[in-house]
Amino acid sequence: MDFIYLDNASTTKPFASVVHAVTTCMTENYGNPSSLHKMGLQAQLCMDHARATIADSLWTAPENILFTSGATESNNLAIKGIANIYGKRKNHIITSAVEHASVRNTIEKLEQQGFQVTRIFPDENGHFQAKDFINAVTDQTFLISMMLTENETGRILPVQQLFKFIKKKYPNIITHCDAVQAYMKIPIKINQLQADLLSISSHKIHGIKGVGALYLKKGIRLEPILTGGKQEKAIRAGTESVPLIHGFGQAVSLMQNNIPERLEQANLKKACLLNLLSGISDIFINSDVTGENSPYIVNFSVKNIRSEIMLHYLESKNIYVSSGSACSKGAKSGVLSAYRIPDNLADCAIRVSFSEETTEEDLQALVEAIKNGQKNLIHK
Ligand code: PMP
Repeated sequence: MDFIYLDNASTTKPFASVVHAVTTCMTENYGNPSSLHKMGLQAQLCMDHARATIADSLWTAPENILFTSGATESNNLAIKGIANIYGKRKNHIITSAVEHASVRNTIEKLEQQGFQVTRIFPDENGHFQAKDFINAVTDQTFLISMMLTENETGRILPVQQLFKFIKKKYPNIITHCDAVQAYMKIPIKINQLQADLLSISSHKIHGIKGVGALYLKKGIRLEPILTGGKQEKAIRAGTESVPLIHGFGQAVSLMQNNIPERLEQANLKKACLLNLLSGISDIFINSDVTGENSPYIVNFSVKNIRSEIMLHYLESKNIYVSSGSACSKGAKSGVLSAYRIPDNLADCAIRVSFSEETTEEDLQALVEAIKNGQKNLIHK
């Protein structure tokens, strides 16, 4: 089937070698890593190898990596796990106004339970300022949760600048970062970022869905959200999915050595798309073209054509994009309004996200299809 897939921020195509590694592991190495016999040990070794690869990619030690079912679970575990321990004495959480639902809704739930929450919005130019987070700190603040690359427009938030300052001035405040859209796209050194907890996901980096990880700094305590066995240092009970973990490790080992080269390629693709879009009328760019933005994500509005209408028109041409965030399933994006993008434009937002397989021809075909869409679709 001939199609153009431009929705890589939603999920990526698993690498063939990942699929191979996973299926081989399922058929040949299906022991339970907690079993005491040889097959258990073999599964344990396989998992250890993936843990070491992922730890290496973040410049940390394997014992700081916990496997989860994905970044949604990593974010839940990080935030609830911290709140249940450090939130006993203090009650204030600071977060950005553009977090993914798995952070946003988790913090909202805590707010309903009585925690105080401050949400920081970008300035009038759509940029986040570290000082706005710093100014929000009170003597009750125990957690700051801030994403690194925002998933709808691709803006990069000043996490390192903020966390460094926080750790120097308020070392007891716990820092959590959702790095799902940044991991394997920009280099992340955990010590430089100064995150106590960091969430990542396998299926955004050509691994399989259903597995993710949480980096947990040594010495930070976390209350489990699942009760059960003693897996993952008794913090995340349940038999680990060894095949998916193995595939995750395989994806990381394939991606981690060429981050700068891929970044450069993504920059070229972004420039190409922006250039092509500048040649047609009624386009408004929602990503940040002046400040720091991931080159892997370009969000724009095709004026007067609602997102779903354009999305399905493009789909009819075998081109797959997203309307805002894939996780919101058509729900209105609070993220775009946080950047002060007017509702009439936000309703027409399209998100294009690249992988290393994306070509200039794909982008030309996309822009041609949008042009045709502008001609053919009924304006509402
Ligand atoms: N955080 C961000 C920024 C994301 O983009 C996503 C996936 N849409 C998640 C968290 C959730 O990841 P997962 O699908 O692994 O649960």
